[in-house]
Amino acid sequence: MFQFRKMKFQREAVPEWPHKVKTLPGCENIFSCIQCGTCSGTCPLSIYMDFTPRRIMSLLREGFRKEALGSETIWLCASCYSCAVHCPQDIHITDVMYSLKREAIKENLYPKRFPIPVLAREFYEIVKRRGRSSEMWLVLRMAFRSNPFILLGMAKSGWALLRTGRLSFKSEGIRNPKDLQRELAVKREVA
Ligand code: SF4
Ligand code: SF4
Repeated sequence: MFQFRKMKFQREAVPEWPHKVKTLPGCENIFSCIQCGTCSGTCPLSIYMDFTPRRIMSLLREGFRKEALGSETIWLCASCYSCAVHCPQDIHITDVMYSLKREAIKENLYPKRFPIPVLAREFYEIVKRRGRSSEMWLVLRMAFRSNPFILLGMAKSGWALLRTGRLSFKSEGIRNPKDLQRELAVKREVA
């Protein structure tokens, strides 16, 4: 993705933020990063990312909170673990990405029109309400809340799936969604 380079200044950083991140699951070793770039070199998706995994580690350690949490990178990560396996400092980069995703949602800093975080949020909302996800409604809600034009590219295959009964407008659900909602509320309080 083409991007204009933007100068960053130390005064824009939040120096205490990386110390908070260090306490999150999988982030214990973030200060051991030697910026070797092995993670970026081995990541199959780094060419599509706005910041490579090495740059995410750098932004994170320097306290550039908005840039790290607002990046598309953390949502493009496919959890293949290649970076974590090859990192010479034994940094669990995949887990770092997960922790950053959770922080981005909590702090409301995720990229708002980027489909992947919208898909994750809509999936959660549908499952919370009905106990099951329905692909058709999930895709429609994701598209209308991010970029409706992506439906144009999906129309042909969507129509084929509808015709063959592989996709349906029918909403799936469990018998007692209230029980699930109670369980989820308890889990949220514990977290
Ligand atoms: S491979 Fe590990 S040490 Fe090297 S840049 Fe990536 S996170 Fe840092
Ligand atoms: S786990 Fe994510 S960041 Fe690491 S190599 Fe795979 S896609 Fe890239």
